[in-house]
Amino acid sequence: MKESVRKLQPYVPEKPLATLKAELGLTRLVRLSANENPYGTSPKVATAVKAWDFNNSNRYPDGEATALRQAVAQQQAVAPDQIVFSVGLDEMIAMVSRTFLSARDRVLVSAPTFSEYALHAEIEGAKLLAVPTLANDQVDFKGLVSALTPAVKMVWLCNPNNPTGTSESLAQIEQFIQQVPATTMVLIDEAYIDFAMNAAALTAIQLPSKYDNVVVMRTFSKAYGLANFRIGYAVFSKAYAATMQAVRLPYNVNSITQVAALAALQDQAFVRATVTKNAAEREAWLTFFDQHGIRYDQSDANFIFFAYPDAAALAEYLLHHGYSLRTGLRADWLRLTIGTAADGQALRSLIAAYQANAS
Ligand SMILES: *Cc1c(COP(=O)(O)O)cnc(C)c1O
Repeated sequence: MKESVRKLQPYVPEKPLATLKAELGLTRLVRLSANENPYGTSPKVATAVKAWDFNNSNRYPDGEATALRQAVAQQQAVAPDQIVFSVGLDEMIAMVSRTFLSARDRVLVSAPTFSEYALHAEIEGAKLLAVPTLANDQVDFKGLVSALTPAVKMVWLCNPNNPTGTSESLAQIEQFIQQVPATTMVLIDEAYIDFAMNAAALTAIQLPSKYDNVVVMRTFSKAYGLANFRIGYAVFSKAYAATMQAVRLPYNVNSITQVAALAALQDQAFVRATVTKNAAEREAWLTFFDQHGIRYDQSDANFIFFAYPDAAALAEYLLHHGYSLRTGLRADWLRLTIGTAADGQALRSLIAAYQANAS
């Protein structure tokens, strides 16, 4: 076994909702800890999946995901051969780490951020360099530039960032890229960018066409509501795309998933409705936090990171009242996935009652 793997701390996935509900003796439990889409999935996905020809079950899927590739290329205005699909963005994070990292390389992140970047760096025997965010939890670009050394082979930028929800302007990101050596990959994870009000101005999706060392990643798990189907993709420069296709397992994305993703992509009305409802609910939460003197980070995502004294106790209280939030990301901070308006109202009443009781 690889030395790096022996002492690995695995990513702890969410417990199945039914299991957790039974353990807690609850009749209803709303998971607001995994940034899932509370409005479900486009109904067009079910129609498309049910229409899939099961006579193809014994045949390998289209390894090129041709129809989906054409649709994504057109949507994002990139060349079809710049796109590499993966089994969720999870798999892409593993794939790029496997491709670009050797033992003893360094991987640079702004912290806190998504834990899988560190996990896969560790599996490859690389070492993580973490530059803390600024006081407002924005990225410390100056700090990142200072931390660059020839050993740094990858830099991760999650925009908007998980768990803070904060986003960085495209201008700032491009200015940063211009200070990174061409031999260092800059990986921009845009899992949540659909939720930003100015997503079109914020996205770096055109940068891989301009800078060979830039990669931009998207997922269907969040705004498109397809978390269960496991599909994401990355846009690479032409310099790296062919190599990535060679590293990718030839049949990683199955046909049903390809059909589901294409149907989801074609139903932009569902995505717009999700984004609009999320934005309204996000506003309601920020107003509530302001009124109750609760500190939070600016969010361009479908979740909010907020501070609360003895946050673990609040999370426990909310869990026993049917709402699970994400704990353990920073001492006395919680990450709340923005849910439906009805759940938001109920949850805000619970927090207000808890706060009134505590004071
Ligand atoms: C959810 C998430 C992903 C991965 O999502 P998949 O379901 O694997 O596509 C990637 N990056 C960030 C920051 C995420 O929060």
